[in-house]
Amino acid sequence: MGAYAVPRGSPLVVRFNAYVDRRGPDECWPWRGTKRKDAEYGVFNLGREHGGTVTAARAAWFIEHGELPPRDREVCHSCDNPPCVNPRHLWLGTGAENMNDSAKKRRRGLRPRRFDWDLARQLLSQGQSTRKVGLAVGVSHTSILNLLKRAA
Ligand SMILES: [Zn+2]
Repeated sequence: MGAYAVPRGSPLVVRFNAYVDRRGPDECWPWRGTKRKDAEYGVFNLGREHGGTVTAARAAWFIEHGELPPRDREVCHSCDNPPCVNPRHLWLGTGAENMNDSAKKRRRGLRPRRFDWDLARQLLSQGQSTRKVGLAVGVSHTSILNLLKRAA
């Protein structure tokens, strides 16, 4: 690892770090600042010259890399913990990749809170079998078949 893109002592970083519950290097670093009303995501104002208010994860990415991710990319959490801003737990993906990642995690035993019909439809459109799609979203393949019948 070379030098950080945004200097550690800069006012922006000091302001950002004041909201970070910094723990061990591989632990989650929960955001202690403002969160979006409707979500667990933290928000942070990078200042107008850097795009104004962004999610805390995007701000963490900016501080680590010196630039914001492209607009069509999402900062995803390998730890599945939305308030986390540990740069080691952040990766860039498209919306679809983020969904696939969630699906993979669900297959490892985390059941979805509610059935993700959009994800199921997306996977079906990619030619995946009803059995695979069922596994991905945590329901039986007959449920997928029934939903397909109902949607037809
Ligand atoms: Zn984390």
